[in-house]
Amino acid sequence: MLTGMQIAVIGGDARQLEIIRRLTELDARLSLIGFEQLDHAFTGAVKEKLDEVDFSIMDAIILPVPGTNLEGQVETIFSNEKVILTSDILGKTPEHCSIYSGITNAYLNEVTKEANRTLIQLFERDDVAIYNSIPTVEGTIMMAIQHTDFTIHGSNIAVLGLGRVGMSVARTFHALGAKVKVGARKSEHLARITEMGVEPFHLSDIEKEVRETDILINTIPYLIVSASVLSKLPVHTLIIDLASKPGGTDFRYAEKRGIKALLAPGLPGIVAPKTAGQILANVMSQLLHEKLDNRKGNAQ
Ligand code: NAP
Repeated sequence: MLTGMQIAVIGGDARQLEIIRRLTELDARLSLIGFEQLDHAFTGAVKEKLDEVDFSIMDAIILPVPGTNLEGQVETIFSNEKVILTSDILGKTPEHCSIYSGITNAYLNEVTKEANRTLIQLFERDDVAIYNSIPTVEGTIMMAIQHTDFTIHGSNIAVLGLGRVGMSVARTFHALGAKVKVGARKSEHLARITEMGVEPFHLSDIEKEVRETDILINTIPYLIVSASVLSKLPVHTLIIDLASKPGGTDFRYAEKRGIKALLAPGLPGIVAPKTAGQILANVMSQLLHEKLDNRKGNAQ
């Protein structure tokens, strides 16, 4: 149980509701900032405006998956309130208060550093990234079906990268009957791709390897699908770029060549917000239990 813990949940989308539900069930006390248009009420959680919150009693602050934007604004889809997270606000929290977000950026790094508070990025964890790859793949399948007039079964699919997302993508499209090849640069990745029963290729050969691709799925957050690679793709190829913004595709050149290239960020929150929220709720409750146990241990 999280009895006695005081947590501020600032902004976010439907995924945050799963976190709020779980933490209130565990008896934490929650201040919800940026939720005043949410009809649902949670026992143990109060909706507050940013300037009404007593940050001096907070044990944790939970931000949405993207954290803040580069100006410090927190996305609040359940509110019209403009919420800006500053180092002054963070400085009002007790020293042991930790800040949680999915990912970070230069602004969020800077304000947490200025306030000397710990920032924990949930998406850096392997477990979260692997669980999250499940709704990501389902979203990718949805996009492939929506944007092609041929079946996945039997089509030539090139996956770039064998990280947490790439591996799940390759395995699932293979299971759907596609002819999957995966490009990577490490020999252990090429070995794993072979073991998975799909075709490996080294990324240095990408231009030769993508010539017959029907769907290209990129998971590499680096400009890998360059103009030169695009010039080798058949014009009917659909590119689904899963890598974080700005993706790994030269979208300008793809458009010039008439190749449909889609940047598809945030698929878990779009196709399965409940599951994506539960993944975050599981890890948040685990982390907060550890934090509470540590504090109790230190107090003894
Ligand atoms: P990951 O486990 O770190 O995998 C990244 C892959 O990219 C690895 O195979 C890595 O290979 C490769 N890579 C990185 N830089 C490279 C470079 N310069 N040249 C060649 N290969 C390179 O990351 P992940 O969890 O799979 O996530 C992949 C991307 O998808 C991230 O950008 C993540 O933010 C994004 N994502 C998007 C969604 C969505 O909904 N669209 C959902 C989840 C994640 P090495 O091991 O050789 O470096």
